[in-house]
Amino acid sequence: MTTLLTTHDIARITQTLGLAEVFKRMAGYIEADFLRWGEFDKCARLASHSADGVIELMPISDGQLYSFKYVNGHPKNTQIGLPTVMAVGLLAEVGTGRPELVSELTLTTALRTAATSALVARKLARPNSRTMALIGNGAQGEFQALAFHYLLGITEIRLFDLDPAASAKLMRNLQGMNGLNGLRLILCSSKEQAAQGADIITSCTADKTRAAIITPQMLAPGMHINGVGGDCPGKTELHPEVLARAKVFVEFEPQTRLEGDIQQMPADFAVTEFWRVLQGGAAGRDNAAQITLFDSVGFALEDFSALRLLRDCARELGLGQDVSLIPDLSDAKDLFGQLGFASTPRSVRVAA
Ligand code: NAD
Repeated sequence: MTTLLTTHDIARITQTLGLAEVFKRMAGYIEADFLRWGEFDKCARLASHSADGVIELMPISDGQLYSFKYVNGHPKNTQIGLPTVMAVGLLAEVGTGRPELVSELTLTTALRTAATSALVARKLARPNSRTMALIGNGAQGEFQALAFHYLLGITEIRLFDLDPAASAKLMRNLQGMNGLNGLRLILCSSKEQAAQGADIITSCTADKTRAAIITPQMLAPGMHINGVGGDCPGKTELHPEVLARAKVFVEFEPQTRLEGDIQQMPADFAVTEFWRVLQGGAAGRDNAAQITLFDSVGFALEDFSALRLLRDCARELGLGQDVSLIPDLSDAKDLFGQLGFASTPRSVRVAA
């Protein structure tokens, strides 16, 4: 049997454990897997581009477990009532190939992306960072805000979105949550106003275009930039000069060169893979005035970690449904028998 986790199960996990605990565990699982980077068989994701979006497959394995995520990115989807990003994923045993878990990954992608952003910022942002500008307040917005609040101690979030209804939705959702008294949300009328006084800028917009949401004029010494929305060829958020002025960190360099904001830079533009900083083999921020920048695109390892976490939470909380995705055979060679046709072979003669 394979365990199936639906969106309702993910909601149960977050309701039962609390979001602070889920972000903490998610960041812990992702960090643990980044720390054993060398054990993974890695590749850039396989992307299928179309006029309005992209569909991607993201496989990875550590030799014991194999996972893949199916995910799309269609920024115009919200106009017809569908999310920009939707995902499902699978975790399997390498030894046999048996699929162990199939799960929704739309909510989970938002959780894992925000946990990764916060994990990276915890290493790279100035330790006394308290204020974050959040530009782009769509589906990922609340997740980013809360991960930075819970994992970094961000207490002021300055919001801007071209669509005021998206910012209003984010305000409403977070103001309705218990236990968030220490978090101040400020609505801003421009991205420049949002960036004023911010220690961190998170850019999380969706538009299939070469945008320059973060401009050099918005930078201040010591800032950390968390660039989440520039994640596809021809889809960027950062002005090239912002990249040139920052120390840039990436997940998996071969994939980010194609998809990240650094697609705008020369092929030899210097970047550091984040796992090196975590393992202690490369420096993170060099001084308090330096601008650090995480050019996030989303890497398969983060989904591998997320699927491991979901599997463990489902076991702990008794969630999920056993589903028959693989035939349950009493004779492993009798696959045909599973179809349930008549069993007495009257017309078959056996040669003596
Ligand atoms: P969404 O469509 O729900 O929200 C995007 C928001 O950006 C919308 O509210 C839109 O009005 C706003 N926006 C668009 N252009 C803007 C601009 N110029 N200035 C200000 N706001 C603007 O999308 P989402 O699910 O929140 O995803 C946001 C982005 O993050 C997407 O580009 C998505 O591909 C990306 N993403 C990246 C990762 C990763 O791992 N790096 C993971 C998930 C999503």
